[in-house]
Amino acid sequence: MAKSSVPYDVVVVGAGAAGIGIGVVLQELGVKRFVILERHQVGASFSRWPQEMHLITPSFPSHGFGLLDLNAVTRQTSPAIAFRREHVNGQQYAEYLQRVASHFDLPIHTGIDVKSVEPLLGGGFALHTDLGQLRSQFVIWAAGEYQYPRTHTFPGAEHCLHNSQVPSWTELKGDDFIVIGGYESGMDAAANLVTLGKTVRVLDRSSAWADPDTDPSIALSPYTAQRLEMVYRTGRLDLVGNAAVEAVKPVPGGYAVYSEYQKWVTAHPPILCTGFDTSLKLIAPLFDWSEGHAALTDNDESTLTPGLFVVGPSVRHGDLIFCFIYKFRQRFAVVASAIATRLRLDTTPLETYRREGLFLDDLSCCDNDCVC
Ligand SMILES: Cc1cc2nc3c(=O)[nH]c(=O)nc-3n(C[C@H](O)[C@H](O)[C@H](O)COP(=O)(O)OP(=O)(O)OC[C@H]3O[C@@H](n4cnc5c(N)ncnc54)[C@H](O)[C@@H]3O)c2cc1C
Repeated sequence: MAKSSVPYDVVVVGAGAAGIGIGVVLQELGVKRFVILERHQVGASFSRWPQEMHLITPSFPSHGFGLLDLNAVTRQTSPAIAFRREHVNGQQYAEYLQRVASHFDLPIHTGIDVKSVEPLLGGGFALHTDLGQLRSQFVIWAAGEYQYPRTHTFPGAEHCLHNSQVPSWTELKGDDFIVIGGYESGMDAAANLVTLGKTVRVLDRSSAWADPDTDPSIALSPYTAQRLEMVYRTGRLDLVGNAAVEAVKPVPGGYAVYSEYQKWVTAHPPILCTGFDTSLKLIAPLFDWSEGHAALTDNDESTLTPGLFVVGPSVRHGDLIFCFIYKFRQRFAVVASAIATRLRLDTTPLETYRREGLFLDDLSCCDNDCVC
């Protein structure tokens, strides 16, 4: 890695779906001095998914006809073709990202943890890592969310097990469980446990499973709705809505889970499916925050810190939530174009991205209405 006296043009933090995807675009634009820094290994978050968890978005080998596989991070690739699966699991997806990184020969340093990012007075940034400091003109933050589970949402949450801490649902001993949170992770936990013959009660502050919204960033995906229907028929799944959990306390023989008016008791640590925080909290002072979200320009650059860009699920513009791969990959070219222009590089290669629906700079076109 370059010493702090030899600055990079671009440092990308994180080699997950977002870091690898933007890395390919930078490579294709001919950005010479760039590097992707990764604290573990390529696709580390996906490798850590519970063994039974699969992508909820389907993969299909459609790119030959101009429609990229929904889970591809770059053109001319398809997890569906790589694994002959419609819903690949985390291990397979991590392997897909590793294959992309290797095919495009991306400059990646693994085993390096970025601790903080410091804007420098004369422009550019110092990145402080566990292995020393380096400098860069631009930083692209692609550190995701999965490694930042929300584990302190109410008193006693420390007695629970967050779903991201479960290597495999087969490892949980016991016959009946309480799952707190009824969106995608909660339903995945419930479906896997019921399939293993357990009885499961899901508590949710609203009733996420009944939300009619058409955006899968808000309501359950068709894949999950379909699974839910199947496991519900077993009679071993109880869905409790309007149950905002306020506390969990150890009691003799197990744990008591409290909402304002109700109490449930379980013999096993309740399973927390309360989601993830954004990794942007590591560099929070570098952003303006509005309603819990980092404010970004039209190029996904911090409104407060020029030169600092964000790619991945933390990107939001108004009501538009870019938390799925098929959504946030369309912003890679937007970020790359802004940086390449300032580096005075030719942006012509991005025309292919535009033609293939991978250059989403007009957000007025995004809505999920369905005419029939
Ligand atoms: C339960 C669940 C199911 C999902 N299902 C789908 C789905 O079906 N389809 C879909 O499109 N999306 C899905 N998502 C969302 C999708 O997984 C994420 O949006 C995607 O992983 C984000 O990619 P990323 O590259 O931003 O983050 P990650 O994949 O988490 O990559 C971030 C990388 O950064 C590294 N890193 C983190 N902090 C640092 C640091 N400080 N220094 C150095 N490296 C660091 C990590 O090790 C990691 O490799 C799901 C998410 C969850 C939680």
